[in-house]
Amino acid sequence: MRVPGTKNSYAAGEVFIFLLLLMLGPQAAAVAAAFETGVGSLRTSKRWTSRFYGPAVAALSMVVAGGLLRAGLDALSTAAVGGAAAVLAATMACSAAYFLITAVLMYGVLQLKRGEPFIQPAGIFGVFRWVGMAYAGSASLAALLYFTWQQQGVAALLVMLPLLAMLLVTLHFYFRQQEASEQLREASAEVAAREATLAQREADAAEAHLAALQASERRFHSAFTHASIGMALLAFDGRILQANPALALAQALGRSVDDLSQHTLQTLVAPEDQAALERHLGLTSAAEFQRFSGEMKFLTATGDLVWLALHCSFFTEPGDAAEACLILQAQDVSARRTAEAGLAHMAFHDALTGLPNRRRFMDVLAAAVARAKTDPSRAWAVIFLDFDRFKLVNDSLGHGAGDDLLQQLARRLQDKLRPSDLVARLGGDEFAILAERIEQERDAVVLAERLLDALKKPFVVAGADITASASMGITFSAFGYDSAEDVLRDADTAMYKAKDAGKARFAVFDTSLHAAVSERLRLEGELRQAIAQGQLAVVYQPLFKLGASDAALPQLTGFEALVRWKHPDGDTLRPTSFLPIAEETGLMVQVSDFVLHCACRQLRQWQLSSPELAELSISINLASGDLANPALVARVSRAIVESGLRPEHLTLEITEDILMSNVAGALDALTALRRLGVRLAVDDFGTGYSSLSHLSRLPIDSLKIDRSFVHQLHRNSDDAAVVAAIVQLGSTLRKAVVAEGIETADQMTQLRELGCEGGQGFHLAKPLSEQAAGEWLAARRGQLH
Ligand code: C2E
Ligand code: CA
Ligand code: CA
Repeated sequence: MRVPGTKNSYAAGEVFIFLLLLMLGPQAAAVAAAFETGVGSLRTSKRWTSRFYGPAVAALSMVVAGGLLRAGLDALSTAAVGGAAAVLAATMACSAAYFLITAVLMYGVLQLKRGEPFIQPAGIFGVFRWVGMAYAGSASLAALLYFTWQQQGVAALLVMLPLLAMLLVTLHFYFRQQEASEQLREASAEVAAREATLAQREADAAEAHLAALQASERRFHSAFTHASIGMALLAFDGRILQANPALALAQALGRSVDDLSQHTLQTLVAPEDQAALERHLGLTSAAEFQRFSGEMKFLTATGDLVWLALHCSFFTEPGDAAEACLILQAQDVSARRTAEAGLAHMAFHDALTGLPNRRRFMDVLAAAVARAKTDPSRAWAVIFLDFDRFKLVNDSLGHGAGDDLLQQLARRLQDKLRPSDLVARLGGDEFAILAERIEQERDAVVLAERLLDALKKPFVVAGADITASASMGITFSAFGYDSAEDVLRDADTAMYKAKDAGKARFAVFDTSLHAAVSERLRLEGELRQAIAQGQLAVVYQPLFKLGASDAALPQLTGFEALVRWKHPDGDTLRPTSFLPIAEETGLMVQVSDFVLHCACRQLRQWQLSSPELAELSISINLASGDLANPALVARVSRAIVESGLRPEHLTLEITEDILMSNVAGALDALTALRRLGVRLAVDDFGTGYSSLSHLSRLPIDSLKIDRSFVHQLHRNSDDAAVVAAIVQLGSTLRKAVVAEGIETADQMTQLRELGCEGGQGFHLAKPLSEQAAGEWLAARRGQLH
């Protein structure tokens, strides 16, 4: 019977060995023990040493333990402690001794072989405890059998034997079962151990994975922290879960990273972009959200605005879908935005004055036109404003001064407007004002008056005081406009009306101006016809030398040729009504050529008609288009050659306005004409802004004082001072001075007193037709000198 969990076996023979010990004594028992162990070790070991050692130990142990039992029983009987209990106890003690000696010797040898201490109680009991228990059991059985034998004889003992056998069989099966369950335990322990290693391996793998994750997270964190682009992790409601320094830094939001995480993105965005941002975030329930990109304005901690280009996308940490959030990348694009805004500003603003330009004005006006059409209460007015004689400032004081004046004008205009009004520079010296939300037309008129008033105060330009005035044309939404272009055209028309009416004033557009426009168009067509069909004519106004005193008669020096249009209607039209049209439509060159040839031929005819008239001269007016015409010199010389006139008998008159508007260009043309030998005069002198330096440089022969100075000539009047100054100027620059528009004898007397040499006017002679002039000359023959 093998002892479970050990290599030791228990032979049933132990019971008989102890029985023999009690019945026959230690020697018989020792022989039986040696025999029994020998049989056992034959089965368990092949080595002769252990086949010998085992029985030897068993015999020795039995001798000693049996000896001790004998001695113990003897001692008990002499002490009169007898009876079955004493025998049983002694037998048990003996079995214990037997076990101890056997175990110590058997296990001790094993220990020595392993190089370990001979006696090690824990080891002994670990290995031999079953044996010990088996011995104790065997010993007590043996004692019971011994008692039975003593009291009942051998027969009772024989009856016991089957019982004993049954007990041993039972024990045998119990042990087998114990062994099976022991094996089962071992197997399950093995499984447990295998499971343990497996778990360990899994734990190791998890740990490695965690380490990898941590490394990845460190890398992400490092990238996040050190990225030059601003980054943040956002919750879907806009809460900033984490922000990196680039987002926080001065270049972006100017807040600390910690400060940022106290905010939502919505509280940082500029108020005007808040709605857009919320719209983007509003969509961002985790299911619907894809991504959004866009540029928005944000407020820094100091309240400055920065433009950030945002890119926001879904962010899931690996293997953690539940913790999904948004990752926001933000880049400061303020510099680009500022540059773009600058470009946009340039596209819609005038560089000189900083005011909106024509394009911008037309855009805003178009919107106002559309609004007023659907809602008549949104009435507006437009004022078209053109400065009077601005060109002269530019030409006489230089372009720098002109620019300076424009800037000052722009500023002064703006100061007089309400914030809801828009003033734009359309180009040159033209400005336009859109006054929205006017209640009645009167408001715009009041505004125009206010502007006129504001311009009265002189401007300081290039160290000089300059007075500027403007002509303005006004039109209103009440006319029911469809396009911004129509509005501007009508305001422009009204402005010309103001100019015609004498400048420095405003005119309101009315439908009669529409009529004026169509009248103009009609005239334009008719003028073409007129030139072709010979409806143009020249009238001649005599020019005189005034003489030193009233006693002397004014002496005829020549004529001024003035163009007339004999309209088929029967009317004779004045040049002021059709020359601007001729100028605009490019017909001026033909008109000028007609007058030039006609007048030169006529004068030559008169010169030849009488020796008295041989030295008469003819004055012809040039238009601004003529002066700019490259063929001017050729045209003039052809007229001279064709008529046979001497060049010094031809005087070309150019108004001060025209001359001074392009001094550099005029200088070349005038020099070339002068080379031809013709004379040059400045017409309407005193009305423009001649610069004296220009005047002395230009090859001019005479100055014609504008008739506005002559008209109101009284003694000691301002005009008298002007005339005196011009006369003085003429003598200084050695230029002849002629007064025009002399209508009274009084004016002539005064002009004589002021030293003016030449004169012309209704008082002396009216412009005369070709025929009338011929008759006028004939009537005076003999008294011309
Ligand atoms: P302007 O050169 O100053 O011509 C003199 C103008 O004064 C003429 O008017 C003449 O009729 C007018 N006039 C003469 N004496 C008096 C007077 O005592 N009192 C008043 N109130 N007016 C007087 P007109 O013929 O209507 O010419 C007007 C302007 O048209 C001229 O002014 C001249 O600038 C221009 N013009 C006339 N004919 C021609 C031409 O053939 N070619 C060019 N380019 N311009 C011309
Ligand atoms: Ca003239
Ligand atoms: Ca004149």
